[in-house]
Amino acid sequence: MKSSTLIYDLDLPDLTDLLLSWGEPAYRAKQIWQGLYRHFWYSPDHFTSLPKSLRENLAETFSLQKHESVSFSILEPSMILDSSDGETRKTLFTLPDNRPIETVLMRYSNRRTLCISTQSGCAMGCVFCATGQMGFGRHLSSGEIVEQVLYYARMLATQGEVVTNVVVMGMGEPFHNFEAALAAIDRLSDPEGMNLGARRFTISTVGLVPAIRKFAVRKSQINLAVSLHAANDELRSSMLPINKKYPLTELMEACREYIALTHRRISFEWALIHGINDTPEQARQLANLLQILKQSGTLLAHVNAIPLNPTSRYKQKATTHQRAIAFRSELEKYGIPCTIRLRRGIDIQAGCGQLAGITLNPHQ
Ligand code: SAH
Ligand code: SF4
Repeated sequence: MKSSTLIYDLDLPDLTDLLLSWGEPAYRAKQIWQGLYRHFWYSPDHFTSLPKSLRENLAETFSLQKHESVSFSILEPSMILDSSDGETRKTLFTLPDNRPIETVLMRYSNRRTLCISTQSGCAMGCVFCATGQMGFGRHLSSGEIVEQVLYYARMLATQGEVVTNVVVMGMGEPFHNFEAALAAIDRLSDPEGMNLGARRFTISTVGLVPAIRKFAVRKSQINLAVSLHAANDELRSSMLPINKKYPLTELMEACREYIALTHRRISFEWALIHGINDTPEQARQLANLLQILKQSGTLLAHVNAIPLNPTSRYKQKATTHQRAIAFRSELEKYGIPCTIRLRRGIDIQAGCGQLAGITLNPHQ
């Protein structure tokens, strides 16, 4: 059977229109939707309550032939790696056109958090990021983004567990693939289907100013994170080339507008690099930069600091524990809340900025 449309690219209204065009009643669309997003069925053969002719139509339109069975799924896991502490799992998928993407599951305390990709590779070229180092492959469709969540939801369901949170922080810049990324979240949060509320999602952007503005007007409940990493233009441009296009004053203005419109807090991400951006001086500049976000005396901002994760083409070192604590203390003097994140999944290159679609020896 030839590969055709991806069923996960459709919204419920699209599916309903299709079913009506096949002469089927609309309630069948809802039945299929619930099969896909509540039971996580991924083959027409799973839909045993549907008439045979409808199953055949679904198979004809949406299925790929896979290992003796027909499947809606296009995600083919080519490598699964578990961290030595058993808390992090990374899956490398090869898409039908051979593009790689990676998805990470983190099991910390009661949370089951997925880190999903929106592009194969990334066009933004941040120097310390393995995805940036590999360059841009292509955008993912909304269905390809959705299916990463469903893949893990299926796996967790076999263990009596559910996905609790999703961070859109895997490969790629989600705001560079804006419509698909947001359509994927809408589809997954549909109350008729998976019903994973928008508040359970966090989108992280490198700072694409027009997209931040577009996102703000949606007044969505999705959490926003902005990757800052440096508090002056010279340093930030040397690490994040996009800063030349959208310098800090413009970025901060867009963040201020976002907070004014949504009254929601922004998390600012900061990969602590030894001697580069982990100094008390950088903390003071950062505190100063964030002041413009203060509205009616409240600062709806938070700094997420994470020691730099190693990547092959960036030679700088991570901060030390002591320096990270000093950085945080300096921010706290100015009333800026800061969390120092633990580095996770480093032994399987599943940490922030380490997803490159290639698998190095996990035990080296
Ligand atoms: N493109 C988006 C989301 C994916 S990257 C963005 O840049 O925000 C997810 C986070 O990992 C970003 O905050 C990014 O700056 C950070 N990151 C990239 N490389 C890193 C590294 N080597 N160590 C720690 N964090 C890194
Ligand atoms: Fe792309 Fe984000 Fe990596 Fe920058 S940090 S290259 S924007 S994935």
